[in-house]
Amino acid sequence: MKKSVEEYVRSIPDFPEPGIIFRDITSVLQDADGLQMAIDEMQALIDSDKVDVIAGTESRGFIFGAPIAYNLHKPFVLIRKKGKLPCETVSRSYDLEYGTAEIEMHKDAIKPGQRVVVIDDLLATGGTLEACDKLIEELGGVVAKNVFLIELAGLKGREKLKDYEVASVICYE
Ligand code: AMP
Repeated sequence: MKKSVEEYVRSIPDFPEPGIIFRDITSVLQDADGLQMAIDEMQALIDSDKVDVIAGTESRGFIFGAPIAYNLHKPFVLIRKKGKLPCETVSRSYDLEYGTAEIEMHKDAIKPGQRVVVIDDLLATGGTLEACDKLIEELGGVVAKNVFLIELAGLKGREKLKDYEVASVICYE
């Protein structure tokens, strides 16, 4: 019988620190069936008629976002860590468990009114995607949906993203 995409995810206890179960997607990517299923099943969560732009978050959001944008024939824009984009940017800081992080987008990545689907590999606390969604709104975009391969439901990312639509392929409690 064909394996489900979930069966390709490798769970590593106590990485990167004790108590965390790291959900590793490299084991999905390095299998041709796993990679194809992950892209297809994430893409199936998107209504192509209701989106103008696909955005991917650095770095694993790029892996899934770009092929989905290609398949749907939509533009793909990058949400990057600070200091990587060469043209005029807008940026936003957000809190991590320890310290803060900052993300950036090119000012011309999104035109006012465009509907944007944001792609990342995994939803944990939702802090990263909340910052991404706010940045898109700052550029005048409308967040159509946040799409993930994996959701860690226990960390309540959906509550943090309650103002936005959220969909995921695999959900761990
Ligand atoms: P958050 O902002 O808390 O939703 O964290 C999301 C980011 O952290 C994702 O882009 C993941 O790549 C990474 N991440 C957080 N927790 C895990 C985990 N248990 N396993 C793998 N990646 C994780």
